[in-house]
Amino acid sequence: RGPTAEELLEGLNGPQAEAVRHAGPPLLVVAGAGSGKTRVLTRRIAWLISERKAHPGSILAITFTNKAAAEMKERVAELVGGRAKIMWVSTFHSSCVRILRKEADHLGYERLKSNFSIYDAQDQKRLITLVCNDLDLDPRRYQPGPVLHWISNHKNELREPDEVAADARNGIEESYAAAYKLYQRRLREANALDFDDLIMETVRLFQLHPEIRETYRRRFRHVLVDEYQDTNHAQYSFIHQLCGQSLEETDEDRVEPAELMVVGDADQSIYAFRGADIRNIMDFEQDFPDARTIMLEQNYRSTQTILTAANTVIGNNQGRKEKRLWSDAGDGDKIVGYVADTEHDEARFVSSEIDKLTDGGLKAGDVAVFYRTNAQSRVFEEIFIRTGMPYKVVGGVRFYERREVRDALAYLRMLVNPDDQVSLRRILNTPKRGIGDRAVECINELANREQVTFWEALQRASEAPGLATRSQTNIEGFVAMVTELQSMVAAGERPDVVLETVLDRSGYLKSLEESDDPQDETRVENLGELVAVAREFAEDPVAGPSADPSDVDAGLVEPGLGDFLERVALVADADQIPDAPDDDPDAPPDQGVVTLMTLHTAKGLEFPAVFLTGLEDGVFPHSRSLGDRPELEEERRLAYVGITRARQRLYVSRAVVRSAWGAPAHNPASRFLGELPIDLVDWRRTEADQARWSRPTFASDSGSSYGAQSGRGLGTPNAAGRRNFTSAAARADAAAKAKPAREIPVLEPGDRVTHDTFGLGTVVSVEGQGDKSVAKIDFGSDGEKRLLLRYAPVEKL
Ligand code: ATP
Ligand code: MG
Repeated sequence: RGPTAEELLEGLNGPQAEAVRHAGPPLLVVAGAGSGKTRVLTRRIAWLISERKAHPGSILAITFTNKAAAEMKERVAELVGGRAKIMWVSTFHSSCVRILRKEADHLGYERLKSNFSIYDAQDQKRLITLVCNDLDLDPRRYQPGPVLHWISNHKNELREPDEVAADARNGIEESYAAAYKLYQRRLREANALDFDDLIMETVRLFQLHPEIRETYRRRFRHVLVDEYQDTNHAQYSFIHQLCGQSLEETDEDRVEPAELMVVGDADQSIYAFRGADIRNIMDFEQDFPDARTIMLEQNYRSTQTILTAANTVIGNNQGRKEKRLWSDAGDGDKIVGYVADTEHDEARFVSSEIDKLTDGGLKAGDVAVFYRTNAQSRVFEEIFIRTGMPYKVVGGVRFYERREVRDALAYLRMLVNPDDQVSLRRILNTPKRGIGDRAVECINELANREQVTFWEALQRASEAPGLATRSQTNIEGFVAMVTELQSMVAAGERPDVVLETVLDRSGYLKSLEESDDPQDETRVENLGELVAVAREFAEDPVAGPSADPSDVDAGLVEPGLGDFLERVALVADADQIPDAPDDDPDAPPDQGVVTLMTLHTAKGLEFPAVFLTGLEDGVFPHSRSLGDRPELEEERRLAYVGITRARQRLYVSRAVVRSAWGAPAHNPASRFLGELPIDLVDWRRTEADQARWSRPTFASDSGSSYGAQSGRGLGTPNAAGRRNFTSAAARADAAAKAKPAREIPVLEPGDRVTHDTFGLGTVVSVEGQGDKSVAKIDFGSDGEKRLLLRYAPVEKL
């Protein structure tokens, strides 16, 4: 019963086994990616329970995500049985919440009660806005995003409002400090904590009440931390409170500190922007005197080729400790490189390579596609939907389910169909324009009384019973804006132009841009993606990214806003494919699904085949980091994380032209591509190939309309470039120049033609002339199709 010591050490190398068996002083395991750090940590927990007879309740293990915690617990339970379930394996935040809930009440701790609420980003923003208001701070100079970020930084450094106020060097800092102070007071009045408070308050609780700290020190005899390189100062202090030598106590009642093991890799620190401090790992030996360090040097995850590539890239960072990481998995296949014309071309390449991999025996579940920002998932999702490749997007809402995308589409739907109450109500006060719940009630009453639609009632707001004058004015402004936008739609304006106008005139874009919350920055990027989708549709409704053969019939319709919405609705619908193949009767059994995720969410994971996409300067590395060494080095660590997720196959790709805000932007190759050893990469398509073979649209565009419209990277769309919807004519003109006008084939019944999708066919009849000519063509087994010749990829033979 229970595993033997040999079983627990089975499949571990010397230093790994040593780390598992280690007893006594604090232990640091530092090692590169894939060297078994997480495996060692998990085995050690099992070892502590099984061999050293530690009570599972005396173990505290910290992981970076809740999912990783669940997996670790599962794994330990497999090794030593179900009683392992009572261990604390969780994130810093969850552990601290548990401690605070337990202690807050019976102490009456600083008026915090154990039923405290935890404020999320939106709540925080609402609160700080009120606070700044109360302090009469100019809302243009003191925006919620930056103020909250500033507060968060101080909390991660465990700095209290009074301390911060005392150090203020000028009026602005004094105001920030005052905001911090009042914000904390209001939180407390609401019996609420924000995310950073969870850690800071726990540390403070331990500091103010040593007897409580001693309780936990007595309880937790073993503390283990994974991904230690990504801890911030507050988290470090939490650990130190539990495991450091306590100085205050007299010798008799001193509790021996818990045994501590932390594992990490300084080269994988990717959360500095959230306050993570790489020095925690660098200074471990100073922070915990008599600490021991064990290095792991064998990598069990990747081929030597992948490992060498990772080591070479990260070698460009300065001031790091050189590591000797090796693998005996053999050289394996070369890295495959691909230079695509556009992001669609890149997605097609990825998709067809995945087909080859799965034909060759890999499962879909063995493959992951990584990108730098969430918005980049869209093109991959579209191609996978089209080809029927099962996939899931991890750590991010699917593109068309994202709040900002839904908001934007609600605007468009409401313009096309004002009776669509759901869409209308969704955006009526989004962004906030002073039309509150009370006003909505008044309008509702009017609609009911007069038996008119909600939209009609809005137009007659002056008759609404009990409506405040201010609300009435705001509603009138809204109605005027919608009416103007509707006339644009009625005039047949292009969907992308309408969308950009909507985002601008509604103030939606502005509200996101002004917020400076990193989330909202992502939202702006996603809206840029949506504009790109609309623009593509407007210019080429037939060959759109999600066009399948039946879409060719779209050649029969003018690309209006209604059609665009329909197209999007269909993609969004097809989006609802199940995550697990088990739920899908048609999916092959046990094949899993392709995983799409950002590089940040990939930490700690591994896949047999990995696609690193969007390797362009300005995308990855992110445009924000280009002029800044520390930030660039953090991006490089992210590249290191990405490369080292791959076990057997690694693909790297970039697109020469990538749409941002509907305007193609040229991005140079990512510097990380240049840092890969040349002889390790098999370039399926090089930059030279790309220049030679790309479609004329892109090859000849230097200085043309494209250049004039873009001139910026993804992620830093400049306002002027984005807002040039004012002249739809100029745009259409640019589009015409960029896309050489197609000659419309002149056809007669009986002519033989070839079509890109349907192949050979015979013309049955032709109606209309020039731009409007439509041909009925018989494609044999594909049947008869009616095609608008202006768009249809048809050639006369
Ligand atoms: P990362 O830095 O990416 O978090 P890590 O150091 O935590 O990586 P693990 O995820 O623990 O590495 O291990 C990487 C892979 O190597 C896993 O598949 C693990 O099962 C395997 N592995 C680790 N040690 C050994 C070993 N001694 N023998 C065989 N396989 C091993
Ligand atoms: Mg790990």
